[in-house]
Parts: sequence; C-alpha cells; structure tokens
Amino acid sequence: NTVKYNVAIFVENTAVGDEILCHIIKAKKTYAVGKIAKIIKPSKHRIEPECECFKSCGGCSFGHISYREELRLKEQKVIDAFERIGGLSPEFMPIIPSPSITRYRNKAQYPVKRENGILKIGFYAKKSHRVIDCEDCLLQPAEFTQIIEIIKNWINKFNITVYNEEIGIGLIRHIYLRKAFATGELMVCIVANGKELPHSDTLVETLKRVEGFKALLLNTNCSNTNVVLGEACEAIYGEPYIVDILCGVKVKISPLSFYQVNHDGAELLYGKAAEYAAPSGKEDVLDLYCGAGTIGLSMASKVKSLVGVEIIPEAIEDAKENALLNNINNAQFICGDAALAAEKLKADGIAPQTIILDPPRKGCAASLLKTVAEIAPQRIVYVSCDPATLARDAKLLEGLGYSAVEVTPVDMFPRTAHVETVVLLSQRRPDTHIDIKLDLSGLDVTAAETKATYQEIKDYVLDKFGLKVSTLYISQVKAKCGIIERENYNKGKEGHRVPKCPKEKEDAIMDALRHFKMI
Ligand code: SAH
Repeated sequence: NTVKYNVAIFVENTAVGDEILCHIIKAKKTYAVGKIAKIIKPSKHRIEPECECFKSCGGCSFGHISYREELRLKEQKVIDAFERIGGLSPEFMPIIPSPSITRYRNKAQYPVKRENGILKIGFYAKKSHRVIDCEDCLLQPAEFTQIIEIIKNWINKFNITVYNEEIGIGLIRHIYLRKAFATGELMVCIVANGKELPHSDTLVETLKRVEGFKALLLNTNCSNTNVVLGEACEAIYGEPYIVDILCGVKVKISPLSFYQVNHDGAELLYGKAAEYAAPSGKEDVLDLYCGAGTIGLSMASKVKSLVGVEIIPEAIEDAKENALLNNINNAQFICGDAALAAEKLKADGIAPQTIILDPPRKGCAASLLKTVAEIAPQRIVYVSCDPATLARDAKLLEGLGYSAVEVTPVDMFPRTAHVETVVLLSQRRPDTHIDIKLDLSGLDVTAAETKATYQEIKDYVLDKFGLKVSTLYISQVKAKCGIIERENYNKGKEGHRVPKCPKEKEDAIMDALRHFKMI
C-alpha cells in the first residue's frame, strides 16, 4: 500500500545535494525522521570525516561536510531563526569563521565508566549514556589525550573504583580538563563520589610530565544526578585556578566559572561585541550574565563605568579578582539573578547607555527584557549561543522599542551544530541616534544617489509605511533601478547567502526613490 505522505524528513549525517535511500524510523503528522540506508549519489560538500569516532560519538554533527558548507548552514540557521521565529530582517553580516577548526576547545568533561569490566573514558554516544572510548578527540588539545591516558593507567594500576550511576557506588565519575590557550596552563579536575583521592601523589608526579600542568583538583559530587560537577572543589596540587589572557585581559579561571571554550574564537566574538558597543570613554555599561566578567573587562578601559551581574558566586569572585589583576578600577560585580538585579539597579536609578546580554541557551526572562527596556539604554549588545531564543528575545525587544540593527554569527564551535551570534539592537526614539560604521567602499556614488541618504530613505519608509528597511535592501533596490552600477554591496564572502528584499519593502523603497526623485 502506498500512502501519500508529504512532509520534511530529517536524516542525520546527510549533506545538501545528497541522493539517498533512507529508512523512516519515526513518522509524525508534520515531519519524519529517517536513517541513511544507502548514499546513491554523494553531495559535493561531503568530506571524509577526520575523526574516527565521528559516527558513534555525539559531539560533532558536521564532521562529514566541508567547513565552508558548515559555515553556510550555520549562517542560514541564524537568518532562518530571525526571519521565522522573530519575523525580523535586520542586516545579516557574513559569519566569522573560527581561527581553528580542530583542537580549538579549552575545556572537556569526560565521563568515566566501566563497561563489561573495561575502563572507558571518552564521550557519550548520541542520545545515550554509553561511553565511546574516543582515544583522541580532534576538538580537544593534544595534552588532553595525554592526560586521559595517564589517568587511565592510574585507575588501572591502583584498582581505583569507577562510579556506577545505576547503583550510585564507585569513586571516579568524570575527568574535567581546562587549558588556558594564551599561557599554556592546564587544570585537571577529578569529579569523584567521595572526599578523598587515593594515590594522588603518584598521579600528580605523572601529570607533571605534561607540559603546562598547573593544578590537580578534586570536585566532590555524591549526588545521584546527571549533573557533572558538585559544589565543593579542593586543590590537591597547585592553585584552584589557572590564568589565561583574553583580549589582552588576564583572566583567572576556576572550575565552576563559565569561560568561553574557544579562546581564539572568543577574541573575535568579543571584538565584534566591542564594535557594536562602540565605547567612547563616556559610557556606563551594564554586563548582564557576565560570568567571570570577561566581555565587560575587555572593554573596561574604553568605558566610564562597568557593572557586571552573574548568578554563580565563584564566577563573581573570579570577575572581581580579574578586575584587580588587571588594575581595572571602574568595574563592580554583583552576584544574583540578572532579572532581579536589573530590577534593583533600575530602582536605584542607574542609567547605562549600553547593556550587554549574554544569557545561557534558554535566553533571557521576559521580565528581564522589560526591565532592560525600561532602563532605556541606547544600545543593547546581545550575545547568544542559541539563535532560536535569541530571535524570540529580539522580537520581544522589538515590541519594547528596540530594533535589531545588525547580526553577526560567529563560529565558536566548528564541527558541532552550535553557533554563536552577536546582535546590535538600538533604541527606536526619534530624538536619539546611534552611529554605526558603514563600509561604503563598494558603493558607486552617482549623481542620482547623492539625492537622499540611506538614512533619509529609511526614515521616509518608516514614516510612510511603518516598515523598517535595511541598508542592504535599499542598495538591492537601487541596484535593480540601475542607480548603483555595481551590485556587490555587502555581499559577504562568495557562497554566502544574502537575504533578498521582500516585495512589500521593495515597493516601499521604490516609492521613496520616486519621492526623492532618484528614479
Ligand atoms: N558573558 C560571559 C558568560 C556567558 S555564559 C562570558 O562571555 O564568558 C552565561 C552566564 O550566565 C553563565 O556564567 C551563567 O552562570 C550565567 N547565568 C545563568 N543564569 C543566570 C541568571 N538567571 N542570572 C544571572 N546569570 C546567569
């Protein structure tokens, strides 16, 4: 029996342009899930995965396609989120690629398990708690592989017990490693179901062979949950932190503080955030969800004052120490929930010109966005690791008087499905304005073009039609009308998709061009 069934089918590990035969493993009313049975014709974007564990490990999603194609997909994911979830079409800048696509991570948490008597330290398989014994994950620094090998030998040599999550018995649960890329310092943290680590002296002596090894920590987690880290952390050797340098700022990293996992990518991300914040030395800046204070501190020398808010006490302690470490004395840090702290700061009458938001994946609480809008900064710089919640929040902010002006995706997590994004939102008030830098080098300024500026066209369209149009859209319509001879304005890198001006906005821009007698 054939049934007509017209839905999208999601098939893992495929590439655009593949011709495949697949088994349907789940069929829902609106979508289906398939599994590749045979690749009839491979896509031109396919590559041979470099990592042996690619198929079994749940970490990477894009090991089978070229990095260029991965970037295109990530860029599209951000555009789709804004257009479909947010109903917004701000200016999309080309994605900023990661400086490295292998061994870029500075943090890893390896589950430890004994399966059929065999010790396994690796990563969880897709959607499971089975551990894949990935000998050398290509996303991690080479030293991590060396450290895991040493710990494995130590566990085997001294018959140290391994945690069994079903019965809650056994000592070693996870191995948590961090590396400071700028200084080379390494932290080894053993997460254990107990307060003592047997034969730790031997372990320390062996770990000293690894270049950069600075600290061995014991994190105690005796609870029967999936949460990796417990609350108590103790240094068995060295200090309970390592020091890195990010955007010229010395950063103390302790195990419980959030720290961006891609050091070189983070410098590009913070660089973009600073460009959007455009500090001139006069601003008061509020950095909400500040972690160890890194984004704000990287701009501190260019602002009047900085207030950071973060919920994890250890991270706030790090942030305060980081300010001291760098002789930054215009910064203050508050430990607490961002929404509650913002409410209190508003009641205290603070009036920052710029607010930075960098929430976890779930995005910002609606109440926080409302408070932020009431504080009424000129600019909001929103950094996000989830395009969907970002687009949802940008839509909420749109309703609260803030327009997303420009969006830049940054690839902080090559080979995985995740993408970071930074957005500039500006306050829509007739009596305020913000300056943004525009690269006009691609424009051919003809006599007709000089008749109205982009801003005048934008204002006209907003006034008459209630529509916001971007510089990109205006330039597209101008190109169509032959006002700009070269049509390469803001096209981004080759192969990158640029959003096309919707018909309604095109008509409105045409009307403006007619009004200004440019056509
Ligand atoms: N801006 C920092 C951290 C971003 S990650 C950086 O770039 O390194 C998000 C941070 O938000 C984490 O440090 C997390 O602990 C913190 N956080 C999560 N929920 C929060 C809340 N309700 N209020 C304040 N901070 C929160």
